[in-house]
Amino acid sequence: MGKHGKSWKVPAAEALRAKPDIEVADFDASATPGFAGDKKSGNELLVERGEHLAELQERLYAAGRSGDHRSVLLVLQGMDTAGKGGIVKHVIGAVDPQGIDHTSFGVPSEEEKKHNYLWRIRNALPRGGQIGVFDRSHYEDVLVVRVHNLVPESVWEKRYDEINRFESKLVESGTTIVKVAMFVSLEEQKERLAERLDRPDKYWKYNPADIDERKRWPDYQEAYQAVLDKTSTDVAPWYVVPCDRKWFSRLAVTELLIDALERLQLGWPPADFDVEAEKKRLAKA
Ligand code: ADP
Repeated sequence: MGKHGKSWKVPAAEALRAKPDIEVADFDASATPGFAGDKKSGNELLVERGEHLAELQERLYAAGRSGDHRSVLLVLQGMDTAGKGGIVKHVIGAVDPQGIDHTSFGVPSEEEKKHNYLWRIRNALPRGGQIGVFDRSHYEDVLVVRVHNLVPESVWEKRYDEINRFESKLVESGTTIVKVAMFVSLEEQKERLAERLDRPDKYWKYNPADIDERKRWPDYQEAYQAVLDKTSTDVAPWYVVPCDRKWFSRLAVTELLIDALERLQLGWPPADFDVEAEKKRLAKA
């Protein structure tokens, strides 16, 4: 990690990658895996790494403009208040918006319901040069759908394999998928919901149904466990990010995106004109 060795003991992509024996029910959402620093050093590092992320994203965008078909897809999944919105605002917000293709997936519309659950996902995939950001995703179709029995088990149980095939093709076609499971503890969620009720500028984020979902926490844990067990593949692994400390989750997702972009080994596209000749022309213009 070069000069960041002081803070990351283990690179984020390694420390956060879902282990085959991960137990969602025992997960410590207040931990800072791999990171040795505190909030202050984490926030300082976030500024620096955010700038690096912005440069890498610009390279990806430039490559896309020059015909590179590759893209990155950030999939954010997490319980309410885990901080998906904060990631979009603070991590994605640090890069040039013209290279970002952001989509939130809510309850399917009438139009979406007419199609297979992957239809709306396919329609939202990033083009070459873009970073796609999914706030919720096709995983809702094995999370909320499973927990609320919105389709029979015989239907949702087939989706894990389908999703793996779908993602594997996507990776083959040049999209690097970064799947982030954002875990907040039940106690921290209560505090964040309480804050929403205390602050008029946060009422808009409050949904009375969130309280009912808390009662289903064990069911969601089971559903997340199945997602991690069945869909963390070599081509599209899950990263599990503890989110009780917002500074850590933002730094963690920044590092995961940097890792994905660095693996693309993006240079700057060469000039498709004669630089020296253009300089001469400009001097005379
Ligand atoms: P947020 O809660 O993230 O601010 P919304 O208010 O749009 O965003 O809520 C999204 C809701 O849509 C969540 O309750 C989520 O569980 C639900 N949802 C997303 N995808 C599906 C799906 N495929 N089927 C049913 N519900 C879904």
